[in-house]
Amino acid sequence: MHLETLAIHSGHAVDEATAAVTPPIYLSTTFARESDGSYRAGFLYSRYTNPNRASLERCLAELEGGVAAACFASGSAATMTLLQVVGPGHVILPDDAYFGSIKLARDVFGPWGLDLSLVDMTDPENVARAMRKDTKLVWVETPSNPLLRVVDIAAVAAIARRGGALCAVDNTWGTPVLQRPLELGADVSMHSTTKYLGGHSDVLSGALIVRDADLHQRINTVQMVGGAVPSPFECWLAMRGIRTLPLRVRAQTASAGELATFLADHPCVERVHYPGLASHAGHAVAAKQMRGFGGMLSVQAGKDREQSLAVASRLKLFTQATSLGGTESLIEHRASVEGPGTRAPENLLRVSVGLEHIDDLKEDFDQALRA
Ligand SMILES: *Cc1c(COP(=O)(O)O)cnc(C)c1O
Repeated sequence: MHLETLAIHSGHAVDEATAAVTPPIYLSTTFARESDGSYRAGFLYSRYTNPNRASLERCLAELEGGVAAACFASGSAATMTLLQVVGPGHVILPDDAYFGSIKLARDVFGPWGLDLSLVDMTDPENVARAMRKDTKLVWVETPSNPLLRVVDIAAVAAIARRGGALCAVDNTWGTPVLQRPLELGADVSMHSTTKYLGGHSDVLSGALIVRDADLHQRINTVQMVGGAVPSPFECWLAMRGIRTLPLRVRAQTASAGELATFLADHPCVERVHYPGLASHAGHAVAAKQMRGFGGMLSVQAGKDREQSLAVASRLKLFTQATSLGGTESLIEHRASVEGPGTRAPENLLRVSVGLEHIDDLKEDFDQALRA
């Protein structure tokens, strides 16, 4: 079935007890046994699983073309779980990975025996050179944050497989609408469902989707025993968001493409980073592995940090806030958020394009840039 249909129907069924079309939120943490000691619907205790999480996990597995999914209390909890599953050893991350993922691997898991290499993955040969006998995991993030650099997922996944390592892709920005890493050879697709999947800036959660049942078992063990799980309400909100995911992402992608072209041609703009622009270094690889270039872009405007921040504060429709993937447009000065050691240029603003009319967004940028 097509993604639009899966987004509506996967994990959804009319409630058997009440005939409710929209599923109830099952707050119960515990489930009654039958007289023979069995569990009627297979639910026992909510940390292990519950009806709302089971629905979301089924839906995400089908959207990404995996065998199973495991959901977590945040994207970071999903990443943490995968690092716990692979165990001590060597892990390769992109040098421009989400800064929270690098911090987790280096500062939290470093003392625990994780040896980290940060690599520029825009050339897959750099990954091949970094592989070691004890490499357990190659982590890919594409398009990257905040420079929208693009990594060839199929090429890196093949290198990881040859070296006996797992390949995981942070697909938060790709979303299954634009990019399906498991089909490109990756073992794991990770999401911060806080972003496009939830889609309304009102739910914090994460997921790991896999195509191997044994790997899912190992993830599921840490998920159940460690317990970094989302609440039933969060799962319900994520499911509600997913129903409109394909429509939202396509509309945001169309607007981001138009805004990127507008900004690239604007006299007050130094540079635009968007993989849909033919001038972007990752354009060809993105065109090969993505169906559309996404709703995120970065723009360099102003001589320095102050001028760039002034542009951001003159915008009326773009709220200055972190996070992305919601219905409202957001803008963020990444160097301020990431602090010392950031790779973000001082005049760079990251934009999450929302669902406002594109003409209003262009007009708003025009006045903010010219003022
Ligand atoms: C937000 C984000 C994360 C972290 O997810 P949380 O839900 O905030 O823990 C990881 N990777 C990417 C690409 C993100 O945008």
